[in-house]
Amino acid sequence: MPVRHYHPEVKIVLANPRGFCAGVRMAIDVVQQIVDLFPGKDVYVYHEIVHNKHVVNRFVDAGVKFVESLDRVPPGNIVVFSAHGVSPEVRRTAEARDLIAIDATCPLVTKVHNESIRYARQGYQILLIGHKDHQEVVGTFGEAPEATQVVEAPRDIPYLHIRDPAKLIYLTQTTLSTDDAAMVIDALKAAFPLIKAPPSSDICYATTNRQHAVRVIAPECDVVVVVGSRNSSNSVRLTEISANVGTPAYRVDDVSEIDFAWFPTGQETVMLTAGASAPEDLVADISRTLLARFGGAIDLRDIFDEDVEFGIPGTLKRLMRGQGIDPAERVIRVSAPTITAAAYGAVPLTVSAAPSTLLP
Ligand code: SF4
Repeated sequence: MPVRHYHPEVKIVLANPRGFCAGVRMAIDVVQQIVDLFPGKDVYVYHEIVHNKHVVNRFVDAGVKFVESLDRVPPGNIVVFSAHGVSPEVRRTAEARDLIAIDATCPLVTKVHNESIRYARQGYQILLIGHKDHQEVVGTFGEAPEATQVVEAPRDIPYLHIRDPAKLIYLTQTTLSTDDAAMVIDALKAAFPLIKAPPSSDICYATTNRQHAVRVIAPECDVVVVVGSRNSSNSVRLTEISANVGTPAYRVDDVSEIDFAWFPTGQETVMLTAGASAPEDLVADISRTLLARFGGAIDLRDIFDEDVEFGIPGTLKRLMRGQGIDPAERVIRVSAPTITAAAYGAVPLTVSAAPSTLLP
């Protein structure tokens, strides 16, 4: 009698969009172009360029030096400001130390900085919703420190010092959970009915879209795997949103942190996604490894097709022209990655769009 073998099979639901956003792609590209433009020259980056340990380690291997204080950058050297932005004080320090500062701040973070400056000038007090130790919040706070108070949660509201409840605006960190931010905003509106909202949401398109994909897909899955580093705010938020809709989620830096005990039958439906700073090759490694272990198939789920482009910073353009390179054609464009069987372990059997009612 033939021996019957048990062949479990997972279904991997790959979320689109996932992974790199245009701001992260721009910041990484800026550092890479500087490394290429000035071989052998020291290149410094103030803070992690993006919150992902693999991205940072790959640049460290290429000789890039990451510093937490500009005192560690010798005068006359190039320093790149990370995607999260810096306060005016840091920009002044760089100038005073005669550094060549290249600002890789995401334009969507700069938007919040500009709102902060504008409303502070108009006499508003700013309630900045976010995590007070996060570099982005530190940078935005620094634009108008006398006018700004950070609100992490509704529990902070009784301790706010409000001069005039009619001259209040809230702004937010770009990578918050839209659920959590809504809760804080509702509490602020209840406490200060005249509080003003920013002209458009400060939570960026990439954060919103990746979170929305989890809200749509996770309920159909047994488990969610989010690729991203521990200090990546938007990656951690994805696991929280999955837990909110009732599906257990695990954040991993890479395939080495996958625990096969998360897939006890080997027949699970697994949502695979990534935070905005996580490289796609790490997602592919996980897909390939799960399919090699359990067999199965990939279902590519399109929630939004992102096609966003940012230009490169003006200082970098000047440096490029100085090296005889025309930066005119250089834009940073992010679109969905190509899935190959060699990289992912299979090509998608199905490509399905979200129900149209869920699209914005
Ligand atoms: Fe910019 Fe949003 Fe990406 Fe942050 S997550 S770098 S704000 S696009």
